[in-house]
Amino acid sequence: MREAFRGRDRVPILEVVNHPDADISAFGRMLFDKAFKTYISKMWDTPVEEIDQYVLERRSMAMSYDERVADFDFQGLPKEGFTKLFERMLDHRNIRVELNTDALEHITFEGDRVLYDGQHVDCLVFTGPIDELFGFRYGKLPYRSLDIRWDYYPECDSVLPAEGVSYPQAPGYVRKIEYRKMMYDTTGLKGSVVSTEYPLPYDRDAEKGNEPYYPVVTEESAALYRKYVEESRKYGNIFLCGRLAEFRYIDMHTCVEHALEYFENIREYLEDGPVTG
Ligand SMILES: Cc1cc2nc3c(=O)[nH]c(=O)nc-3n(C[C@H](O)[C@H](O)[C@H](O)COP(=O)(O)OP(=O)(O)OC[C@H]3O[C@@H](n4cnc5c(N)ncnc54)[C@H](O)[C@@H]3O)c2cc1C
Repeated sequence: MREAFRGRDRVPILEVVNHPDADISAFGRMLFDKAFKTYISKMWDTPVEEIDQYVLERRSMAMSYDERVADFDFQGLPKEGFTKLFERMLDHRNIRVELNTDALEHITFEGDRVLYDGQHVDCLVFTGPIDELFGFRYGKLPYRSLDIRWDYYPECDSVLPAEGVSYPQAPGYVRKIEYRKMMYDTTGLKGSVVSTEYPLPYDRDAEKGNEPYYPVVTEESAALYRKYVEESRKYGNIFLCGRLAEFRYIDMHTCVEHALEYFENIREYLEDGPVTG
């Protein structure tokens, strides 16, 4: 196996399955059937043949004993956690935060412009679901949600063998995460918290599963998404950014990089002189 993939740290599972060597391919097929296929059908409730290739390629097989989910150079949580990081970013004189406010109640469309509270704005960045923005006029985009259950182990510093463990064959749940193992500084912490993720269909009115966590990208949903993108192009001053607005799964590091790049589009647009009413 190592010989066949010499010099590679990680290999997408489909490359192993489709390898010309019969033994390697048989091993890949066994792994695919027992781990990937069972995990994916539980996670996505979509036949593996219909799901976007990206889902299959996202998690590859390590050609070593590296137990991490991904082999990025930098990983873990920010030193003081995401809450502190965002608190610091938002603590800026140009930023006003309004919590528990549905932006859709403030957004209206007029001609080729989007208005906020009935006022003309130079630009509006929307990070919510694109189908909701346009009142589901072409139909609902599919999302998967999770029921995340938390367990606290007061007398234990280490519960799982790694920070994240997948359970492709377990009943109902797909993954457990132990946050303590990702933290920079655990001084003064007592015990450990483990979350267990149970995938659910997304239903915004349900008691559980009311968060659209993961866009389910298939040929059909991608076509529907493109209709919404076309719709958004009718309005000059709206920018759709992020995993819900762009209907794709984005890891945190990609999301930050993407937001910085995306901001350059907005800057360019503003510098070229948007039309204000
Ligand atoms: C369960 C789960 C686990 C993950 N684990 C990892 C991981 O281990 N590593 C990693 O790198 N990435 C992980 N991610 C991905 C990471 O969370 C995303 O990349 C990141 O949060 C995307 O940021 P975003 O701004 O695009 O979207 P979001 O973080 O979803 O932000 C969109 C914001 O828009 C708000 N919004 C939506 N609609 C409206 C509305 N109508 N009015 C007002 N506000 C609205 C939402 O409340 C939300 O705050 C995970 C994601 C999920 C769902």
